[in-house]
Amino acid sequence: MKKIIGIDIGGTKISLIVATVEGRILAKGGLLTRTGKTEARLCVNEMLRKLREMTAVARVRKRELLGIGVCIPGPVNTQTGVVPWSPNLRGWQGIPLRQIIKRHFSVPVFMDNDANAAGFGEKIFGAGKRIKDFVYITVSTGIGGGLVLGGKIHRGASFCGGEIGHITVVPDGNLCKCGKRGCLEAYASGTAIGKAARMELAKVKKSKLLELAPSIKRVTGENVTQAAFLGDRLSLEILRCAARYLGIGLATIMNLLNPGMIVLGGGVIKAGKHIWKPMMASVKKEAWPAAFKACRVIKTELGEHVGNLGAAALVLSKDIC
Ligand SMILES: [Zn+2]
Repeated sequence: MKKIIGIDIGGTKISLIVATVEGRILAKGGLLTRTGKTEARLCVNEMLRKLREMTAVARVRKRELLGIGVCIPGPVNTQTGVVPWSPNLRGWQGIPLRQIIKRHFSVPVFMDNDANAAGFGEKIFGAGKRIKDFVYITVSTGIGGGLVLGGKIHRGASFCGGEIGHITVVPDGNLCKCGKRGCLEAYASGTAIGKAARMELAKVKKSKLLELAPSIKRVTGENVTQAAFLGDRLSLEILRCAARYLGIGLATIMNLLNPGMIVLGGGVIKAGKHIWKPMMASVKKEAWPAAFKACRVIKTELGEHVGNLGAAALVLSKDIC
């Protein structure tokens, strides 16, 4: 039986899976992402070592391995396979990752942006199997999107297609990591939610958040979700506000592309009804009724391994690239 490998390189951790071509996970592993020029190269070596261990554990014979897929944040040039600039991967820029991995495993290696890969994952293993036009959105540390149009990933003229996190929702608004102002990511990402909480706590000083984090400075977006489930009013309000902007983003996509489905994944979505209800109310308010009606909005069915399965799906995606 043919096997595939999926590598998901994120800002904090790298997760790895060995899977069958049907998407059944045979082995999984991970390591922390290290940044800085020397550390990044050491991290790549450690990752290759781990992969070798995993293929041994999963008893993958050389001729069974069909290929390896790698996904990373940022506008990846799928032709060169070199790591692009990314604010979360300091020191990694310019590493010829595809070439390095190919040298070690002697199989085809595919590289793409993490949200595009997740789009592939949904197309091949998930809810997008029978849908021609759909969009995958990850709402996590940052916000990214993968556009599947006419059954194919739309990358655009310079690999920036689907950068939904950088739609302007507030002209001259909050500063975004990308250097521009007012981006959706600066209002609705996990990072933005954590930042909003820290700013509000300096004024309010009464919230369950203070019991969940060691100090105001260390309150995170994840803490806001936890506190919301405990009924914390401030956290609920912060999530409502983020959800409103997220809804504007989704409505923009609906009006622009008229997709049949939007699939959401990422840590922020774990806030469940606290983000979903206000988000859908906002989408309904902002989107054209005909576009809204035609679009199913769902959570990813691929769970926490959506990134890995997406990366692994790149190997099977030749016909839909
Ligand atoms: Zn931005």
